[in-house]
Amino acid sequence: QIAPGASERMAVIDLAAVRANVARIRQLVGERTLIAVVKADAYGHGAVEVSRAALTAGADMLGVVHVREALALRRAGIDAPLLAWLHTLNTDFSAALAADIELGASGRWDLEAIADAAASAGVTARVHLKVDTGLGRNGSTEEDWPALLARARALEEGGTIKVVGIFSHLAVADEPERAENREQMKRFAADVAAARQAGLTPSLIHLANTPATLTAADAVSPEDLLCSGVRVGLGLYGLSPLADETSADLGLEPVMTVQTFIANVKEVRAGQGVSYGLNYVCERPTTLALVPMGYADGVPRVATGGPVRVYPAGGEPVTARVVGRIAMDQMVLDLGEPGLSDPARGFLGARAVLFGNGENPPVEDWAEAAGTINYEIVTRISQRVERVYI
Ligand code: PLP
Repeated sequence: QIAPGASERMAVIDLAAVRANVARIRQLVGERTLIAVVKADAYGHGAVEVSRAALTAGADMLGVVHVREALALRRAGIDAPLLAWLHTLNTDFSAALAADIELGASGRWDLEAIADAAASAGVTARVHLKVDTGLGRNGSTEEDWPALLARARALEEGGTIKVVGIFSHLAVADEPERAENREQMKRFAADVAAARQAGLTPSLIHLANTPATLTAADAVSPEDLLCSGVRVGLGLYGLSPLADETSADLGLEPVMTVQTFIANVKEVRAGQGVSYGLNYVCERPTTLALVPMGYADGVPRVATGGPVRVYPAGGEPVTARVVGRIAMDQMVLDLGEPGLSDPARGFLGARAVLFGNGENPPVEDWAEAAGTINYEIVTRISQRVERVYI
């Protein structure tokens, strides 16, 4: 693996695992278009490297939120089909069109702005219309949908846009038994039918995210869920969106391992307080190990109790818990017994893994400690933590 000392704090990104996860998702979706969602720097994994790996493994298209994210991929030399779907009045649609980026449009203002930019450039924008079938975020309301379709058709006639896709997003796909999933699927099917009646001919219809894609086989109507394409993010990174299924249960391999090295080991007496606020007090003599990562590295400050797997040189690995408050740059493990500062025990400098695959703690343990979801833990690992690609 990575030689100790290679980097003080690193997120090791296993690109072979990305490729294996893409292959796993391909098994589930067959010939449908697989849009690899690499927004937010590929959920903290590194958008350029993950995109290349996903495309190599057979992803058809990349999906990001912002035009700026899409432009960064183009600058890195990635020329695959690319969709960006959330804009503001300041979005540079001209740059997007010049870079051959497909654009989501959620309503009149962005549709018009895209068409205007296309008219100025003398090109036809490739547009995916987004409809809100129940999530209540962006996407056209169903009330506005007929008018949006009519306007899109008129713009098509004028040659400034071509509606190549229609999409929507699910609200409770991670709870597949909930009726709202079926309700959204039904509405979406009707919205797509209305678009065709309005004379539009979108070839790519996409609704499912990772949880929907993983559970589609059990859905009442898998066809209506998988449509002609899926937008898969979390699954690429080998993580489970489902509360009662692990990555392994789903045939996925976690991609990110966050690790550092123990920076200090010391013996303390009973009564020693630990970190700001002295919220943790050692009940008996013990050994404390210092992990040189904290909230500036993206470890949530509230995640006291999170596990760290420590690999002492020449000894058996142990899993210890973070005690006391997590600070900006450091956090403390109680190793549970005195005497471990003896250099012969090998704790000073030992590799310390916050989360990863195999015998390391799963990222879900950190999500639980922080009261959040695995998506947020990986996405927030900061740029201070070097990404190392294997
Ligand atoms: N599609 C849209 C519109 C999204 O916002 C997201 C992410 O939140 C995704 C797809 C990917 O979701 P997931 O990571 O669950 O696959």
